[in-house]
Amino acid sequence: MSTAIGVVGVKLSTTDGQRVVGVGYVDTTLRKLSVCEFPDNDQFSNLEALLVQLGPKECVLPGGETAGEMGKLRQVIQRGGILITDRKKADFTTKDIVQDLNRLLKAKKEEQMNSAALPEMEKQSSVENANTAQSLAGLLNKCRTPQGQRLVNQWIKQPLMDKNRIEERLNLVESFVVDPELRQCLQEDLLRRFPDLNRLAKKFQRQAASLQDCYRMYQAINQLPHVVQALEKHEGAHQMLLLAVFITPLNDIYSDFSKFLEMIETTLDMDKVDNHEFLVKASFDPNLTELREKMNELEEKMQSFLKSAAKELGLEAGKSIKLETNSQFGHHFRITCKEEKVLRNNSKYGILDTQKNGVKFTNSKLSSVNDEYIKNREEYEEAQDAIVKEIINIASGYAEPIQTMNDVIAQLDAIVSFAHVSNGAPVPYVRPVVLDKGQGRIVLRGARHPCIEVQDEVAFIPNDVTFEKGKQMFHIITGPNMGGKSTYIRQTGVIVLMAQIGCFVPCDSAEITIVDCILARVGAGDSQLKGVSTFMAEMLETASILRTASENSLIIIDELGRGTSTYDGFGLAWAISEYIASKICAFCMFATHFHELTALADQVPTVNNLHVTALTTDDTLTMLYRVKEGVCDQSFGIHVAELAAFPKHVIESAREKALELEEFQNIGKSKESEGEPPAKKFYREREEGEKIIQDFLCQVKALPLTDMSEEDIKIKLKQLRNDVLAKNNSFVNEIISRTKVTS
Ligand code: ADP
Repeated sequence: MSTAIGVVGVKLSTTDGQRVVGVGYVDTTLRKLSVCEFPDNDQFSNLEALLVQLGPKECVLPGGETAGEMGKLRQVIQRGGILITDRKKADFTTKDIVQDLNRLLKAKKEEQMNSAALPEMEKQSSVENANTAQSLAGLLNKCRTPQGQRLVNQWIKQPLMDKNRIEERLNLVESFVVDPELRQCLQEDLLRRFPDLNRLAKKFQRQAASLQDCYRMYQAINQLPHVVQALEKHEGAHQMLLLAVFITPLNDIYSDFSKFLEMIETTLDMDKVDNHEFLVKASFDPNLTELREKMNELEEKMQSFLKSAAKELGLEAGKSIKLETNSQFGHHFRITCKEEKVLRNNSKYGILDTQKNGVKFTNSKLSSVNDEYIKNREEYEEAQDAIVKEIINIASGYAEPIQTMNDVIAQLDAIVSFAHVSNGAPVPYVRPVVLDKGQGRIVLRGARHPCIEVQDEVAFIPNDVTFEKGKQMFHIITGPNMGGKSTYIRQTGVIVLMAQIGCFVPCDSAEITIVDCILARVGAGDSQLKGVSTFMAEMLETASILRTASENSLIIIDELGRGTSTYDGFGLAWAISEYIASKICAFCMFATHFHELTALADQVPTVNNLHVTALTTDDTLTMLYRVKEGVCDQSFGIHVAELAAFPKHVIESAREKALELEEFQNIGKSKESEGEPPAKKFYREREEGEKIIQDFLCQVKALPLTDMSEEDIKIKLKQLRNDVLAKNNSFVNEIISRTKVTS
C-alpha cells in the first residue's frame, strides 16, 4: 500500500515439502523494516500479489541460481518490471541477524533493543498479507500525492463512529461529486504538483534539506493560491464547509510562508534552476560574482563548441543537436536516436549514453571545458556553503507549517479521491443516509460489491439487504457453491465500512446505522494453502468475535466448521449462531453449507433465511446471483459434478445415495422424533451418546482384569463394543468411524 518501498529481498526455502517464500523490505518514509514469510504455489501467486502491492523497483536475490524454482521466481519478478540484483548467497544466511537488528532498530530511550525477543524472529507464516490483491484500499485510493494515499489507508483502518464527523466528510465528498470541473482540475492538475510534504518536513526538521528541497517547497507553496482560487469558484451547498476546512487553512499557510518565499527569491539563482542547478545568487557575495563570471565565460565557450559541432555534423544547433547538462555527465551534446548515424565511425566524438530520448556524447574540447566548469562549480558551491547553511537553518524553522500543509493537502487529496471514485464507478455511488448508533436499521437497495463490479467481464447483479432491530437481525445464506454467498455478505461489510469512512456507497439507496465494529470470519475454508491449523484459527477468530461483539456490531461469517467433522461442525455453527442471534443480537450475516442451520429461523424470530439462486436445465447450471427470501430448495452438488463430466455410473450412484439418505431422514421424522428440530436432535443424540460411552467405560473398569486371561478380555471387550454399536447412536457412530478400533 505504501509507495515508498524501493527494494525488497526475496528468499526461497522448503519446509515439510512446502514452498516457503520469505520477503523483507524497508519503507523509507515510515522508517519501518518489514518481513513476512508465506507458503506459495508453483506459480508464486502470493509473491506476485505482494509485489504488486508493494511496487518495488528492485529485488535482491541470492546469486547464482537461475534453474528450476528459482528460474520461475525470477520470471515472476521480471514480469512485474522489477530489476533483479544478485547478491552473495551468504548474505541471505547471516548468523548475526539479531545483532544487525539491534543496531538498526530504534529502541525507546534508556532501553536496550533486544531483537531476539521480537515475534518476527519466530518466523510465523502468514498468508493474509499477501492475499488481498483486490482491495478496498486499491479501489478508493486514487490520490495524487503520497500524503493523500497514506491518509486514505489510515481512514480505511480507522472508520468513524461519530455521526457529525461522518456527515461532515460526506458533505465534503458531495461538494466534489457535484462539481466535476473542480474535481478534475484538482485531480488532473493541481494536486499532482505537490511533493511528499511529510518527507520534506522531516528533512527540514533534521536540517538535512538541500537548496533543491527549499526550491521544491517554494514551488509547492506557490501552488496554494491556485488551489484556493479553484475552491473559491465552487458554489455548492457546502461552500462554508470548504471555506473552513480548506480555503482558510490554505490561506493561513500561504501567509505563514511569505518570509520563506521572499528568502528563496532573494537567495536562489532562479536562472540556473531550469538547468537543475541549485545555487545561491552570485550577487550575494563578491567572491561568488567572480566565479560566476568565469562560469559564464566557459558556458559561452561551450555554446560556440555546439555551433562548430553542428556545422561539422550537418545539424542545426539548438534544434537537432543540443547542448545540455545533467548531474551525471555535466555539459554534453544530445541528438535524437534517428540522427545517431552521423556519429558512426567518427572518432572525434565519444558517446556517453544511449537511451530512448537520444544519444548523449561529447568531444575532447567540450569535455575539457566541462571539467573546468565542474571544478568551478565545486568552488562556487564551497563558497556559497556558509550562506546555504544559513538558509537551511532558517528553513528548518518551517518544519511545522510544512507538516500542517501536508495534512490539509492530504485531506483534500483523499476527499477528491473519494469523490472521483464515487462518480467514476460503473454505476455512480450514492450518499448513504447515516443513522445514529443503536437505531438498528441497515437497508441497502441494489447493493453491489465495489471491487467485483469493476472487474472485466462481470455484469454485476445488485441485491438488497435489510436489517431491522427486533425483526430481522440474523441472515442465514445458503445455496450452491459459487452462487454469490460470499460476495453478498462481504459487500454488506464493505458498504458499511465505506459509509463510516465518509465515502459514497455502491447502492441505489442506503440507510446505514453506525456500527461499533465490523467483525469478519471469512475465507479460510477456500484456501488450501493454509495447513491443518485452519480449524484452530477459525475457532480462535470466532471466539474473539463472540467476545468482542456488541448489539451494535456487524458480524460477517463466511462458512464455519468446514475443518472438522460434519457433526461437530454443524453443532458449532448452530451454537454460535444461536448465541449471536439471541444473546448478542448484533447485525449478522452467515453464509453456510449446513442446510440444517436454516431451522434456526423457527426458533429465533429475528433469524431470517436467504438463498442465492441458480437455474438448471439438462446440461447447464446458471448462477443467477440473485438473493431471495427463504431456504434453497434444491441441491446442486450432483448437478455440478455432472457438468464437470464425471463418469456416468458415479453420478448415478451419487443420485441413489442421496435419495437413500433423504428417505432415511424422512423415516426418522415419521417416528418418535417427528418434527424435532435438528439442533434438538443433535443435542439429544449427543447426550445419549455420552451416556453410552460413560456406561461402556464403567463396565470396562469394573472387569476383574487380574483374574482374566488375555483371550477372555478380548472376547468381553468385543461383546461390550457390540452392545455399543447395537444402540446405533449417530454421535457414537461418528466417533467410532473416525477412530480406528482394532480388535
Ligand atoms: P459462494 O460464496 O456462494 O461460493 P462467491 O460469492 O464466491 O460464491 O461468488 C463466486 C463468483 O461469482 C464471484 O467470484 C463473482 O465473480 C461471481 N459473483 C458473485 N456475486 C455476483 C453478483 N451479484 N453478480 C455477478 N457476479 C457475481
